[in-house]
Amino acid sequence: MFELTLLPIPPLLAALVAGAVYSRVFRNDHVPGVNGLSMLMLSIGFASLVQAGGLLLADPSHRLLAMKIAGALLVFAPVAWFAFCISYSRRQLKLPLALLNIVSVIPLVSILLGATNPMHHLVWLEQPFPLSPGPWFTFQEYYGYILIIAGCAILAFMLSLAQSNWRPIVTVLCAPAMACIGNITSLSGEAWGQALELTSLGFALGAWALYRGILKNGLLDTIPVVRDRVVNQLSDPVVVTSHRGIIIDANQAALTMFGMPREEVIDRTIAQFMSNWPPASLTERGAAHDEITIGGQIYDVAFSRLDPTQNWSDVVLVFRDVTVRREDERRLRKLQKELERLAHTDALTGLYNRRIFMQRLEEEVERVRRHGTTLSVLLFDLDFFKKVNDTYGHDAGDIVLAAVARVATQVKRMSDVAARLGGEEFALLLPETDQQGAVQLAQRLRTAIERHQYLSPAGVPLHVTASIGVATATHEAREIEKLLSLADRQLYRAKNNGRNRVCSTML
Ligand code: GH3
Ligand code: MG
Ligand code: MG
Repeated sequence: MFELTLLPIPPLLAALVAGAVYSRVFRNDHVPGVNGLSMLMLSIGFASLVQAGGLLLADPSHRLLAMKIAGALLVFAPVAWFAFCISYSRRQLKLPLALLNIVSVIPLVSILLGATNPMHHLVWLEQPFPLSPGPWFTFQEYYGYILIIAGCAILAFMLSLAQSNWRPIVTVLCAPAMACIGNITSLSGEAWGQALELTSLGFALGAWALYRGILKNGLLDTIPVVRDRVVNQLSDPVVVTSHRGIIIDANQAALTMFGMPREEVIDRTIAQFMSNWPPASLTERGAAHDEITIGGQIYDVAFSRLDPTQNWSDVVLVFRDVTVRREDERRLRKLQKELERLAHTDALTGLYNRRIFMQRLEEEVERVRRHGTTLSVLLFDLDFFKKVNDTYGHDAGDIVLAAVARVATQVKRMSDVAARLGGEEFALLLPETDQQGAVQLAQRLRTAIERHQYLSPAGVPLHVTASIGVATATHEAREIEKLLSLADRQLYRAKNNGRNRVCSTML
């Protein structure tokens, strides 16, 4: 029943290697592409075992049956390889099931036709020897090669973009090539049984090369180790895109930032989240910085090419949430502005204070000297204001002061500067205004103050008037600095002349 020869040694070797690789791959079940690789090793391992078993059998018909079963198991090897390439290059743990279903149709038909071969002989011919390849067999072979080559091309292209190390690329191309060299003899019309022995040896060598080149050299190991242990634990969102901006990887923090599951984020373009992709300096220097808003949070984004020398290298984006910092900065700026405003203005009336008025007066005096313009100053003081306070209370006095400030603001022009110099004394700085214009404005202000209706907190109407002193200077004047005291003297005159009036002079 059994026949002990050296023939089962190559397939047994193949099964051992496939088993060893499978156990190694199995331990790395968090690695993208691992499911495809496991499927490949299972397909090769079982096919080789069945083949080795068949070669031990003495009965030729049993042997042929074992070869057929081994062949049926092997039709899934190219599918598994293809699945590995796709899911590894997309850095996905799950296999692309929809695609897998489509590419599995032909292998399934092959198995169906193989099982029903005596009815049509599409898979195997009886002549010139048992298991001569039939037309469908040849078709399935070519189909397998196409899947292997397509998978290789995708994976090699992806690796060439992402890695500067050429070794994994060579391995990826060598591994299936070794497997194919063993198998290719079957297409040249040799007995398929013999070809199968070489096939399994080829597959075994291919699996071994894959193990050495990818697993042992750490391509499948270190990237996921780095990914899982470092990138995924980073609290900062990290995204990897292709040079075109297609998202190919994102850590947990990034998924939380986008507010989407992994499946929805992968394959989207990063341009959907940032308006100015790609940043100009990324193209020029291989690195860039930008600030964007996602989901109401502000992020500082650091872009860098994995390989700065390559224009089509993958790009890593590291996001840093700067919302709190920006918010603090904004609050600080607002506070600064408010402090500035408080330092410039009088709290009760909102007008400029004495310090700012004196500053502006100095500037305007300087302008008169340089540009030969005219400047007027208008000083006004409320009449008998002490009485308002004494009769209606300090609060009523405050109401009147704020109201007079509003009246003065309404009466003055945009370019005029209104200030409260202290107590119930106010001033207006009138750039480019001659005496006549200044007196006109002073009269308008005086009437407006008199006509305004003031009410005490108790609702009692108050009558308020003001005396106004006006002083005007042209560039011919020698002591322009004295403009304010001159206006003060005119104010004093107005008070002495009976109040509620305007007195003016030229410097
Ligand atoms: P005159 O017509 O001569 O200017 O008489 P007057 O009563 O207005 O003059 P006086 O300088 O004697 O009085 C100024 C009063 O203004 C004294 C004070 O009670 C009042 N006063 C000054 N600052 C404030 C303030 O901020 N709020 C209130 N309610 N009153 C003020
Ligand atoms: Mg007064
Ligand atoms: Mg006064």
